[in-house]
Amino acid sequence: MAELSNLEKNILKAKGATEEQIASIEGVGIGSRADLAVVGDAETLLQLVPALDAALAGAIMTWATGRAAVAVAAAAPTPMLVDGADVVYCVHCKAKQPKDYKSGDLCISCGKQAEPVRSCFWCGSSGPGAFCRECGAELVPPAELDLAVLLRHEGLPKDEVPRRLRTMPPDEKDMLWSRVRKFRQ
Ligand SMILES: [Zn+2]
Ligand SMILES: [Zn+2]
Repeated sequence: MAELSNLEKNILKAKGATEEQIASIEGVGIGSRADLAVVGDAETLLQLVPALDAALAGAIMTWATGRAAVAVAAAAPTPMLVDGADVVYCVHCKAKQPKDYKSGDLCISCGKQAEPVRSCFWCGSSGPGAFCRECGAELVPPAELDLAVLLRHEGLPKDEVPRRLRTMPPDEKDMLWSRVRKFRQ
């Protein structure tokens, strides 16, 4: 008959299993944590050892499979993403910048300007970060700078231009691009 080690038995007791329940577990051939991992889930364990209750079987399988630990690890990035909304990654080497990173700082890893330097569609100055340091305009992606400049020429307000670009349907953007090309000639 399979026999769990003293440590394994003690862990099961700590989970709330009685001597009888542990004997029942051993009785179906479970002699180690690895055997429990073979069982795979609490439902199967309950089917094998009806003497357990669902909560106990769940606690045992969580321990045996380490699945709770996996779930915790998988859940961990969520809060990080929440406070990581303005985490900056270096555009050159992808290194994550420290929490006290300020727009314009050099990368802690490669020493280059961590953020891309973008031109302001409104005043023409350039700098890193999400907003122009000169005029406060929200900086648009470099690929859309020409579109933003065109919208400015059309008289769109400063804060409206980036918003329009974000919400503009692709076909409207295409039309705008064709006008940008004419504008260049
Ligand atoms: Zn870098
Ligand atoms: Zn500006």
